[in-house]
Amino acid sequence: MIAANLKRVNLRIDSIEHHHEVQLIAVSKTRSNSEIQEAVNAGQVHFGENYLQESLDKISFFKERELIWHFIGPIQSNKTALIAENFDWVHSVDRLKIAKRLSDQRDPSLGKLNILIQINIDEEQTKSGLLLKDVNEIISEVSNLPNLSLRGFMCIPSPENSAKSFSEMSDLISKYPFLDTLSMGMSSDLELAIQNGATLVRVGTDIFGPRS
Ligand SMILES: *Cc1c(COP(=O)(O)O)cnc(C)c1O
Repeated sequence: MIAANLKRVNLRIDSIEHHHEVQLIAVSKTRSNSEIQEAVNAGQVHFGENYLQESLDKISFFKERELIWHFIGPIQSNKTALIAENFDWVHSVDRLKIAKRLSDQRDPSLGKLNILIQINIDEEQTKSGLLLKDVNEIISEVSNLPNLSLRGFMCIPSPENSAKSFSEMSDLISKYPFLDTLSMGMSSDLELAIQNGATLVRVGTDIFGPRS
């Protein structure tokens, strides 16, 4: 079932005209190693995790496979060392302090950690992320951190607003020609996100089924 679902999601991605590469991230939070194994067997390489502790067990279980792991959940500062050591990408950087810690704690022999700044695009109290007006201020500081590679932005828009929010994200990244990555779009709105320039889409439910 997971293989068939992945095929369906990849067809949805291919059905939208895009002039840049789009990578599918399988969001595997709460999923077991055997569910992840099914996705790996079907060719899936990129996985997204929200909770550090459960993700470490999975990353270690699959360490012989060349999987690419994305941390997409809120970050507490006492968790940055393990994130810096175990992940390839972090989508949820929302303050300079976190970026500095990730850079300090990244072993340079692992290569630079890919970083996205999370934007609270709809200015929702319940969501983390920087407000648009505060983005410019941290871009140059994050770009200068030695063990990070700042790649772009991530957002989780409120569902009723997603068309407008995706288009604001597209305007935002166009101001920074050295950035190349927009992480946006989930199971229900990936088409709209790709139309607005998403390069990473994060899909859980439509690959693995509803979360219990
Ligand atoms: C859970 C989660 C997803 C996947 O959501 P689905 O609706 O299951 O596709 C994507 N992004 C983030 C940040 C998530 O926490």
